Amino acid sequence: MPKAFVALGSNLGDRRKNITEAVEKMKERGINIIKMSSIIETEPYGYKEQGKFLNAVCLVETELSPSELLDALIEIEREMGRERKIRWGPRNIDLDLIFYEDRVIREERLMVPHPDAHNRIFVMGPAAEIDPDFIHPVLKKKIGEICKELVK
Ligand code: ATP
Ligand code: MG
Ligand code: MG
Repeated sequence: MPKAFVALGSNLGDRRKNITEAVEKMKERGINIIKMSSIIETEPYGYKEQGKFLNAVCLVETELSPSELLDALIEIEREMGRERKIRWGPRNIDLDLIFYEDRVIREERLMVPHPDAHNRIFVMGPAAEIDPDFIHPVLKKKIGEICKELVK
């Protein structure tokens, strides 16, 4: 079954509960959670005037195609009452598809690998905790290596 990395983030409400609830909702949709990283607290990215985030990454296994998986993630965000106001602004839940096997997809609606993930220690750190040897299919580098460069 295909495997994918999903990044979770929350900086509104009960952040830990939001992350746990999103994981439960993925399971209900037949998205199997194989591994879950630690949940880390991070400074806001992009737009600084907001509270700190909790971030985590999970490795999932699913029969859903990349596009179906994205739809499922967006539906979960919607079910959880996510409002989209400012780009990179405060949100109760953000679910981003980071990698899907070694697929490279460059559509307006769906970019995989996520185009900015390799610049984000709060994504690469938890992802590397799960599988440091996973190779970024565009950069052709292990995510453990990408992490080391980000903290340099
Ligand atoms: P960023 O993607 O830079 O982390 P964001 O998560 O705040 O920003 P959203 O408002 O959650 O952005 O998503 C905006 C749109 O991004 C979604 O409607 C979705 O179609 C598109 N998108 C493209 N590629 C992806 C991806 N790999 N994962 C999630 N959304 C994606
Ligand atoms: Mg995001
Ligand atoms: Mg998003």
